[in-house]
Amino acid sequence: MLGSGYDIFSHKFVLFASYGNDSIALINLCGKYLRGEDVTVVYSDTGWAAPWWMRERVEVGERFAQSLGFKTARTGSIGLEQLVRDRKGWPRQGMQFCTHELKIKPAMKWLEQNDPFRRAICLNGVRRVESQKRANYPEFTVESPNHGGRSLWSPMIDFSDDDRDYEILEAGFEVLPHRSMECFPCVNANRQDLRMLAGNPDRIIHVERVEKELGHTKKGKPRVMFRPYQKMGATGIREVVRWALSDRGKYEAPVEDNCDSGWCGA
Ligand code: SF4
Repeated sequence: MLGSGYDIFSHKFVLFASYGNDSIALINLCGKYLRGEDVTVVYSDTGWAAPWWMRERVEVGERFAQSLGFKTARTGSIGLEQLVRDRKGWPRQGMQFCTHELKIKPAMKWLEQNDPFRRAICLNGVRRVESQKRANYPEFTVESPNHGGRSLWSPMIDFSDDDRDYEILEAGFEVLPHRSMECFPCVNANRQDLRMLAGNPDRIIHVERVEKELGHTKKGKPRVMFRPYQKMGATGIREVVRWALSDRGKYEAPVEDNCDSGWCGA
């Protein structure tokens, strides 16, 4: 042991979890194969989770991990709202600075503090069937840049949905019909995710307030969370939710009536 109490020869596993379906399955799987090892489950708090997510998934998931003998930890961040204000705009697909600022950077800091000799093996719940982009994701990465050069292992890489669901049910959890709500909504939210916002008027008001505060770009485009051209012209979160609730291809953006004096138009 070194003076700091850190044993450089010990095995150490750090499991990154959002406590969505894949995370619960991964924790359960590790409970079978890594029991007795030094395992820490780390959650990244983006400050933008659904209000119930922390209470109903993170806290419950942490208790489950602890029941298997694992440690749990959370990383903090400035939160998506402040980040968006600082950057004067929302993250876009392809330039997701949110992932880097809210998750990767805090995780690297946590790893530096808790694994200074870089001996930990990091784990995530990535599966190839999740998307085309992940179809060739490696099971092992010897030196992962996003984990400070540590090894990264994705033990569920070839799991089907059924394989994953088996682990979730075995853990005593229900299979969620949606993805993790660690960010609600996520900048990559699909139609189904956005439909969930309809039942959360407070969150719509919250996003709308930030959108209004951000105003417009120099070119006069509103700084809204979701690009209107990807949502049939729906501009602003309230309209985006209307778009999500409409039948495919049936959404009609409200007509901007700039002047109701009766002297113009028609
Ligand atoms: S979950 Fe979505 S919004 Fe949150 S950090 Fe990741 S990409 Fe960004």
